[in-house]
Amino acid sequence: MTTVPASTSTGTADEVRVRFCPSPTGTPHVGMVRTALFNWAHARHHGGKLIFRIEDTDAARDSEESYHQLLDAMRWLGIDWDEGVEVGGPDGPYRQSQRGDIYQDVIEKLKASGHIYESFSTAEEIVDRHKAAGHDPQLGYDGYDRDLTDEQKAALRAEGREPTWRLRMPEDDITFTDMVRGEITFKAGTTPDFVVVRANGKPLYTLVNPIDDALMRITHVLRGEDILSSTPRQIALYRALIEIGVAERIPEFGHLPYVMGEGNKKLSKRDPQADLFLYREQGFIPEGMVNYLSLLGWGYSADEDIFSRAQLVERFDASSVNPNPARVDLKKATAINADHIRLLPEAELAERLIPYLQAGGVLGEDVTEEQRALVAAATPLVQTRMNLLGEAPELMGFLFTADEDLVVQDDALKKLGDDPAAVLDRAILEVEAIDEGAFTAEALEPALRGAIVDDMGVKPRLAFGPLRSAISGRRISPPLFESMELLGKPSSLARLRSLHSRLAAEG
Ligand code: GLU
Repeated sequence: MTTVPASTSTGTADEVRVRFCPSPTGTPHVGMVRTALFNWAHARHHGGKLIFRIEDTDAARDSEESYHQLLDAMRWLGIDWDEGVEVGGPDGPYRQSQRGDIYQDVIEKLKASGHIYESFSTAEEIVDRHKAAGHDPQLGYDGYDRDLTDEQKAALRAEGREPTWRLRMPEDDITFTDMVRGEITFKAGTTPDFVVVRANGKPLYTLVNPIDDALMRITHVLRGEDILSSTPRQIALYRALIEIGVAERIPEFGHLPYVMGEGNKKLSKRDPQADLFLYREQGFIPEGMVNYLSLLGWGYSADEDIFSRAQLVERFDASSVNPNPARVDLKKATAINADHIRLLPEAELAERLIPYLQAGGVLGEDVTEEQRALVAAATPLVQTRMNLLGEAPELMGFLFTADEDLVVQDDALKKLGDDPAAVLDRAILEVEAIDEGAFTAEALEPALRGAIVDDMGVKPRLAFGPLRSAISGRRISPPLFESMELLGKPSSLARLRSLHSRLAAEG
């Protein structure tokens, strides 16, 4: 039999060691990545380590696809880890499905020390005993098998029964100080002896989770409030693991608040608002997402909502997490994302827009140098006009469309003023007069403003609507004169003429 590996880490005794240990089921959701982020921020704030372990003990529900999505999510958000899957470390392997021998070794020790005992009772027998005693039948396991003699066990086995193994819960209250919630006490007798090893010899999550935390010398367990009810069982297990020399200490616990969705209901994993990758598809950038996720239970300061990853690390501590339920707020998330888009260097934003332009069909798989240069030149025009990178195809598509393929949208044909054909007619004259070599926004603006507003007397509010519709096909577009400069003289003229002849024909 393998023995429990001795720790080879050189970490100091007071080093902060936290972990993120998801089960690879389904696609990464907001609550889960918030947990990863808070663990990471706590580790980085304290100069500690983040251990990334995979709790894949449920072969029926776990999948490799989900595992790879977890890696993708962590990398996208820039949540890096020091030990764990993919990177290795002193306490591996880091996938529970590969740690069976380690668990068996600890299980043998717990059997030998008497901390866990064989239980033959069936669920019906437990209920019947409660009824017979006049107790609530839902009370759970009653400790019946705790002190069976060897003869009794042999007789039960002879009946063909296969025992599970249960932990002997301590007789005293279990109290701990939660980093987020303060002191929490579970009264003695409220947590029944629970199954840690199935009849088939396989350990349960409640057992392997603290075994791994002990062997990986985890100092702080930050996890969702939804599993707070399993904490007394795990603390009882830590006590047993300390007694048999497997654990050094009971880690500190911090239970992170629920994340609520719309309608004040707990956000379900299947809720679209919970799906991290949907946010990415829409064009949340990691900076915005990290900022927003941090606000699900934490605050940077009373008056600042926008902060960087570095600022998060500088201030974050699990003890500053708010215990009250947090709420997803898409409007706020989007506004935060917009702020972070504004903070990106232009060249960086240009690069990040490309995949969204490809996804929107504006650019093909191979992007030419010319297209790349046009994206770069157009980026400053859209940087302050977008909330999500996914808006790029709609905002910028007209710059990459052939003149003859430009579709003027219906709403861009409305409210164009009294005589849009006359406005376009005049605009064409002005544009024709500008030299191709001097075709800049600085030249276009005074010429067109002078002609249409001053000369023709069209209200400034209506003066450029027909031009905008002709040039971009949209009612709302990036700045008009800059857009015309990017398109160049021939293309701008072709578009003005095209809408002009259409309006004149409809006249
Ligand atoms: N694998 C558990 C989960 O995904 C982790 C529980 C914990 O953090 O202790 O819920």
